[in-house]
Amino acid sequence: MSALLYQEAARVIGICNSCRYCEGYCAMFPAMERRIDFAREDLDYLANLCHQCGACYAACQYAPPHQFAVNVPRVLAQVRLVSYESYAWPRFFAAAFRRHPALIALTLAASLTFFFALGIAWRSDGFFLAHVGEGSFYAIFPHNFLVTLFGLSFVFACVALAVGAWRFWREIERPDERVASGATLAALKDAAALTYLEGGGDGCPESSTAPTQARRVFHHLTFYGFMFCLASTSVASIYHYALGRIAPYAWSSVPVLLGVIGGVGLVSGPIGLLWLRKVKPAALYDPAQNSLDVGFTSLLLITGLTGLLLLGARASAWMPSLLALHLGPVLALFLLLPYGKFVHGIYRTLALVKYRRGY
Ligand code: SF4
Ligand code: SF4
Repeated sequence: MSALLYQEAARVIGICNSCRYCEGYCAMFPAMERRIDFAREDLDYLANLCHQCGACYAACQYAPPHQFAVNVPRVLAQVRLVSYESYAWPRFFAAAFRRHPALIALTLAASLTFFFALGIAWRSDGFFLAHVGEGSFYAIFPHNFLVTLFGLSFVFACVALAVGAWRFWREIERPDERVASGATLAALKDAAALTYLEGGGDGCPESSTAPTQARRVFHHLTFYGFMFCLASTSVASIYHYALGRIAPYAWSSVPVLLGVIGGVGLVSGPIGLLWLRKVKPAALYDPAQNSLDVGFTSLLLITGLTGLLLLGARASAWMPSLLALHLGPVLALFLLLPYGKFVHGIYRTLALVKYRRGY
């Protein structure tokens, strides 16, 4: 099955390599031009340079109904998905990528049940409408319990992501590859700025062939929203452990301000990305890869939304329920990070490092 897919990808990329019309659109085309053969590891590398912006599909004179049936974004999306599965750790969880929406629903249901059941059991004086004072999260779930649970989940996610990234890099890096000075920094800048979502300068074609920067903006909101939320949690930990300042923190405090900015990004970005997916031509997407993207984006949206709701109502009697409603998605997100769209960011950055080295 995957042998046929790689054969098809090599055929499509082979046509592009003769045509080269799209070479200014993104890093994938110049990297392709440095090769004449397309082995599996080459295609894994090229596929992870693609953002699926659709610019080359909109411009392609060989796209269906032409008999060459060239659809670069779709075939590279299919290869990307197989690459995620191939390098996943533990191998047993590779199947999770293709069952992502079902797995999200299951993990979310299990983690919500876990927090609600625990809350009800621990707060025998009444969990659902217990008003325990502004932001007294730790009266519902003790701080040490939360740190241990989320710390362990986070460490597991980091280890799984690191092993997958190392396997991917070992496969795509050539033994004779030279380390170019500044390549890693340039690649990190490209990844952080989403340089290749510019579609050659004007943006990506969305509902029509007219390019816009909408996808880049929504992607930035999502990614930086996530990073601001992480920063908020990290600063709160420094407050707690290093400065001895115990939550709740004021609205004007650094952790809350970072959390609000992150939450707004984590709600507006995914809404925009899900909307763009609706208006973009369906031909660009592979159903399995589409489910993976939509599932992960929806989980981010739920996490951001419940986080903002919790913050807004932290002084109300709804706080314990909203806390459980927020912790459930956060735990599901941590556990599923290595088996969802998040890996794209890591593989893509590694592919950009190779690209910036000149290979
Ligand atoms: S996508 Fe089409 S137009 Fe662009 S390089 Fe490939 S074959 Fe040529
Ligand atoms: S990033 Fe865009 S232009 Fe480049 S290969 Fe992918 S879909 Fe085509």
